[in-house]
Amino acid sequence: MTVADGRIPDDVRAALADVVGDAHVLTDPDVVAPYGEDWSRRFSGPVLAVVRPATTDEVADVVRICVAAGLPVLPQGGRTGLVGGSVPGPHDPPMVVLSTVRLQRLDDVDTTSGQVTAGAGVTLKDLHDHARRAGWTYGVDLAARDSCTVGGTIGTNAGGIRVCCYGMTRRQVVGIEAVLPDGSVVRHLQGFVKDNTGYDIAGLMVGSEGTLGVVTAARLQLHRPPRASAVALIGVRDAGHALDVVDDAVPAGSRLLAAELVEERLLRLICEHTSLPWPLAADAPQVLVLETESAAPGEVAMELDDTLDVVVAVDAADKARFWTYREAAGEAVTARYVAHRFDVTVPPRSWDAFVAEAVQRLGDVPDVETTFAFGHLYDGNLHFEVIGPAADDERADAVVLQTVADFGGSISAEHGVGRAKAPYLHLSRTPAELAMMRALKSALDPHGLFNPGAVLPPP
Ligand SMILES: Cc1cc2nc3c(=O)[nH]c(=O)nc-3n(C[C@H](O)[C@H](O)[C@H](O)COP(=O)(O)OP(=O)(O)OC[C@H]3O[C@@H](n4cnc5c(N)ncnc54)[C@H](O)[C@@H]3O)c2cc1C
Repeated sequence: MTVADGRIPDDVRAALADVVGDAHVLTDPDVVAPYGEDWSRRFSGPVLAVVRPATTDEVADVVRICVAAGLPVLPQGGRTGLVGGSVPGPHDPPMVVLSTVRLQRLDDVDTTSGQVTAGAGVTLKDLHDHARRAGWTYGVDLAARDSCTVGGTIGTNAGGIRVCCYGMTRRQVVGIEAVLPDGSVVRHLQGFVKDNTGYDIAGLMVGSEGTLGVVTAARLQLHRPPRASAVALIGVRDAGHALDVVDDAVPAGSRLLAAELVEERLLRLICEHTSLPWPLAADAPQVLVLETESAAPGEVAMELDDTLDVVVAVDAADKARFWTYREAAGEAVTARYVAHRFDVTVPPRSWDAFVAEAVQRLGDVPDVETTFAFGHLYDGNLHFEVIGPAADDERADAVVLQTVADFGGSISAEHGVGRAKAPYLHLSRTPAELAMMRALKSALDPHGLFNPGAVLPPP
């Protein structure tokens, strides 16, 4: 099958339209082009068609048709991914984007187990609202909540601001339904706490970034929400100081709900972008966003040194405003720059040394203008953004990711590997691990048609 002219063959288009309806096979180049560009504007590639199935059976039929025609398939949710995994690369063959937006199943919350089954296309916000109405909370939350989907967060094993309390997406997924590249459906949605019946298929699909099939639904474990909470913004010297503050801040009987860090220059950019004032009484090199559980609304359960520059919010509107100082970081940077974004893990106590070393090494890289550092402090999960080099200039990427490896870190903390980090995967994975990943990939996707180019570098 050739698609050299960038058009989907008429018979394939007709077969897809028979399955999902003509209105859900998009092929107009102007209409499909945005599905090939990601949120960061750094990554883009050619899209042949966008297909929007509404049921698992339709997904299976779409997959069979595309694979029989030899067309690459890219599962796509909210397209908020930041590593070039949710769109084709510039040199990839045109792909069929299999959009999950219509997979909107959302079952009642099982109030005994605290579990819910959700379709891949349900947004994180809708899942949170649904859980809240039933008296529960979902453990994964992130700034892209209005657009990112259950399927996308499973595809990337998303983290976010609550990992210190509930863990990553993998910890929430207790059952999965997915369509494999041969069109078969695997479905294991009972969510039993005890179920030792062989390989962990859900665990395998989590973090597979659309390379092993399409997640169509998942059984998710919910949690009892905090009784109440308070959010503090605290001026600190550096990440080490912030970790000292967090170490002492949470009294017995309370829980740490979030501990995030934003450096001063970035916070000033966020203030400019959002028109919010500088939040503290004095300047500070870094600002810690701390949220802890309290026993009742209006209470503050935090043990903080009197010498700290602190503001605390307890009511919902103020807490939301305080969170903007952290959550608008991505937007504030993207509004002004096409950044090289690095989502990495280093040991939390190495945060300051890592940033200093990376900045120093970047001093030798042409075109680097500046950097910003922020992120999920307690997890050692830094978002390090490099401004200046052209989108396709890889020199800064090589330097930063090698620095991560030199600090014994992980080149991807929570955003995944995508196409951006595939060439660097060997910095975090051994040859034996890479060989096992390749064996799994070729067993499930022998023709290499599922999100080709993402996660695994060409052999
Ligand atoms: C402002 C902002 C803040 C963010 N904050 C965080 C954060 O705190 N923590 C974090 O982890 N991420 C964060 N992200 C990144 C992004 O939101 C996550 O990676 C999210 O999980 C992507 O979900 P999505 O639905 O947009 O997936 P997409 O971007 O559409 O896809 C992401 C990957 O998952 C695959 N995929 C999508 N759907 C499926 C499916 N049904 N089955 C199989 N594979 C699938 C895609 O092929 C792709 O490889 C942020 C992004 C933005 C824009």
